[in-house]
Amino acid sequence: MTDTKGVESRVLLKRLRDALAQEGKGQERLDRVTQLIAASMEAEVCSIYLRRDENTLELCATKGLRPEAVHQTRMRLGEGLVGRVAETAHSINERDAPAARGFHYIPETGEEVFSSFVGVPIQRLGEVLGVLVVQNKAPRTYSDDEIYALEVVAMVIAEMAELGAFTGPDKMAIAAQHQLPFFARGLVGQEGVAEGVVLLHEPQIVVANPVADDPEIEYARLTVALNTLVQEIDEILATDIAMQTGEHRDVMIAYRLFAQDKGWRKRMFDSVASGLAAEVAVEKEQTTTRTRLARVSDPYMRERLHDLDDLSNRLLRILAGRDDANERGIPENAVLVARNIGPGDLLEYGKALKGVVLEEGSVGSHAAIVARALAIPLVIQAKKITREALSNDPILVDGDIGVVHLRPDENVAAAFREKIAMQAEAQEAYTALVGKAAKTCDGTVINLHMNAGLMADLPSLKISGAEGVGLFRTELQFLIRSRVPKRSELSDLYGRVLDAADGAPVVFRTLDIGSDKALPYMERPDEPNPALGWRAIRIGLDRPGVMRMQLQALIRAAKGRPLHVMFPFVAQFDEFRDAQEMVHAEMEKERRLGHELPCDVKIGAMLETPSLAFAPDQFFETTDFISIGGNDLKQFFFAADRENERVRRRYDTLNVSFLTFMEYITDRCATFDTPVSFCGEDAGRPVEALAFAAMGLRSLSMRPASIGPVKHLLRSIDLSEARDVVDKARKSGQQSVRPALKSWLKETGYSRRKTP
Ligand code: PEP
Ligand code: MG
Repeated sequence: MTDTKGVESRVLLKRLRDALAQEGKGQERLDRVTQLIAASMEAEVCSIYLRRDENTLELCATKGLRPEAVHQTRMRLGEGLVGRVAETAHSINERDAPAARGFHYIPETGEEVFSSFVGVPIQRLGEVLGVLVVQNKAPRTYSDDEIYALEVVAMVIAEMAELGAFTGPDKMAIAAQHQLPFFARGLVGQEGVAEGVVLLHEPQIVVANPVADDPEIEYARLTVALNTLVQEIDEILATDIAMQTGEHRDVMIAYRLFAQDKGWRKRMFDSVASGLAAEVAVEKEQTTTRTRLARVSDPYMRERLHDLDDLSNRLLRILAGRDDANERGIPENAVLVARNIGPGDLLEYGKALKGVVLEEGSVGSHAAIVARALAIPLVIQAKKITREALSNDPILVDGDIGVVHLRPDENVAAAFREKIAMQAEAQEAYTALVGKAAKTCDGTVINLHMNAGLMADLPSLKISGAEGVGLFRTELQFLIRSRVPKRSELSDLYGRVLDAADGAPVVFRTLDIGSDKALPYMERPDEPNPALGWRAIRIGLDRPGVMRMQLQALIRAAKGRPLHVMFPFVAQFDEFRDAQEMVHAEMEKERRLGHELPCDVKIGAMLETPSLAFAPDQFFETTDFISIGGNDLKQFFFAADRENERVRRRYDTLNVSFLTFMEYITDRCATFDTPVSFCGEDAGRPVEALAFAAMGLRSLSMRPASIGPVKHLLRSIDLSEARDVVDKARKSGQQSVRPALKSWLKETGYSRRKTP
């Protein structure tokens, strides 16, 4: 930067700070700011436009335009030059504004006499709060130094706005940001509703004094912080075992490169030399990064920009002298808001959270898996939520439909509370069913089990009334650690799971990784179609070390008790046979070591590929049980990626083809007396569960929270009637039996029926 640039903005900033330090209401302060900038820049006009809502800007203060236009003149984002600055987050510098493309004449302001125009965005962390405008009668082009000075001033105005400097009794007129209700429509990550207050995973740093008292001191602070940053990254790379290979290491190496980037450092030091506090200098860069992020669609570039954003957050925390994780107090009824979160971090918060809202994330992400295991309502892909949410803002999370209301108005909150109350009432009714069988009116009993993956799930066994754990996903223990867990750790955990189950059966599924479940510490091959790639039992058989260790841990944990082991993603008989042999071999080894063996071992397979349904008879004779993994099976049956939002809901589970396939599997199992159950997510949806029962399934495994609603429905209907409805719909050529089943349920008055 040039010296003039620094001096110019430093002088202006000093005056600005003095002006803002004076007492006064928000409006008075804003007026003072416009007067001061106009005087300093020898401009006839200086105006501040602020966002009223997502789409509207309002003239909030002016020196030079007609005063009566203040709080009257409004424009849409993108409308006129001011609207364009706000929309693009880029400055506009026009010598002859009325002749410029997109100029929009607003008569009440009297601005037609002004020729030259410069507008800069007032923005903080990539969020445009408003526009700062300077105008002159004479046609002139503003110099780069002047624009730079205005941008620095705009940055300070944004910081001051965040601190509430412009709010007062007249607050709604001026500070629209972060106060109005905000609504985000995302996607369902985990069902459930919650009301609470925002807990930011990456809390924003509040800069008490955006203008530096002494640039020298700020320069030194920034230098020290940058050195600490590089040191921290080096330490992580050198000491964390998880960093020795894989993606995490790549990310850290990218961080180190960014941290040493000369351009990035220079721009921040320039801002400090202009008079900004070190934190604001970092935020100014972060704002630029986020503005770029909003425009870039290339996934690689986005990843890198996210890295840079994370790096700025780290630097801000160092400057603030804050070690985030330790300082985090969790308020009551906390709803965690984050761009994204790793499974380990989410588990650390654990059940203390009422809900989670992520700006990114996917249905199959680790965070979603953990949220599901903890039964915390989760909304993913809630656009702009991290920009909008401030700590402790009231928030409503509707995980049932993937919707978030931030700072809701009273009407919305009241309707929401009604929904929570209704759900609580239904829950009470379900609680009354605990201990009762899921027996249909015509006497068929369906066994209901629960899915689990964490120790924290086990208390749900009693609360939900599940008969056992039909699927224990062992990969969660691997996903939440930064290294492979030890055998002793695993056997200890599995032992505690069996203790907690207190005699109820627990089906442990061996490690199911690959595809959407990647271990941070395991090298991952680059595969064009990971869902069809090297995953689950395929890895287990090719690299048997971990599977053997896991089997030993399970055998030791069972210690005289029955053991159920299930292998994921078996596509053909041979795979199952090899895996089964491994279990027998490990049992033999354990016996020779003198360890107590399980009293009974049942070895089963997950049916997640259509091929297994057509396996030789010998497979059905050999396996002790089968569990249909509908999540995977459905994606292969319909060739529709379970992770891809465009297609994942396209094919109904109640599609006659899929139900006919379920019937085929059930019949084949019946021929060989092979116990079969269904453990995909669909088992927990009442109408789907009913349809599966109608096709012959007698055992279902689901989330604990689904047991009540499924049992309620099954106890209210006549299964043979349901089967007739399915058959009729099938014969009539309907694609899905859902409409027929639903209208039958309606006719029979199911929804009005009290808990039987
Ligand atoms: C399934 O595929 O249905 C299943 C239960 O396994 P996961 O969801 O863990 O892949
Ligand atoms: Mg699966």
